[in-house]
Amino acid sequence: MKKIFLHAVAYVLLIVGGIFVCTFLLSTAYDAGVRSAQLAALSSTAAQKTSVSQAASQTDATSGADSSTQISSAVATVTQNPQNRCLVLVGPGNPFPSWYQPELTEIFGIKVDKAVVQPFTEMRTDASKDGIALWISSGYRSDSEQSTLFQREVEQYAKTSPTYSEAVAAAEHSVAKPGFSEHATGLAIDLNGVEDDFDRTPAFRWLQKHAHEYGFILRYPKDKENVTNIKYEPWHYRYVGTEAAAAMKKSGQCLEEYIAGKTSTSR
Ligand SMILES: [Zn+2]
Repeated sequence: MKKIFLHAVAYVLLIVGGIFVCTFLLSTAYDAGVRSAQLAALSSTAAQKTSVSQAASQTDATSGADSSTQISSAVATVTQNPQNRCLVLVGPGNPFPSWYQPELTEIFGIKVDKAVVQPFTEMRTDASKDGIALWISSGYRSDSEQSTLFQREVEQYAKTSPTYSEAVAAAEHSVAKPGFSEHATGLAIDLNGVEDDFDRTPAFRWLQKHAHEYGFILRYPKDKENVTNIKYEPWHYRYVGTEAAAAMKKSGQCLEEYIAGKTSTSR
């Protein structure tokens, strides 16, 4: 009788033990499954992140022909501030932003943004008191006008360039592509004709001294070609307002550098 009882106890222990072991094995297997599923999810997220960053670096590499293009592209992504329309940045790597609308009017028969009218009129009057004549040869240009200019420039370069795409690339340094021209803002003015030797005239020297007092800057200086991606244009001035113009005059920065600096300090 005692023997039978011991057998029964042994069976019960065996069954309970068996259940315990099975439960343990099942839960371990379940945990392992969950963990491997989590790992799989994590690694796929990591893979997605890698592919995103690869795509981003590829975009950088393709959008920037050189480091200066990357500077201006970087500026475009962080600085366009609709609150200050006079600081709108348009140029190679910085397409005309959708928030900007030129408010067009005419001055001396030339279309410009209305912000330009009073400052230019005052500047012209004060210059004439010093015996200097200033006149606007080009102000606002529509996309189709810019397109005509650009195409004409490409055709000029095509005469000497080995390929058409090289002619286009060369033309982009002297005439902005449609959609990338500052003239579409109405805030840019070409003064006294488009003459390469304008910087040897008394009018240029007067502007060097006084343009900032009226809110204008020489937009494409000789020593900033690698930042603006536009070759030196002594005749092209841009209205940015007196505060920004004075700051740039003092620091020697061009518009791209000024806006980049303003953004990094205000963050
Ligand atoms: Zn111009």
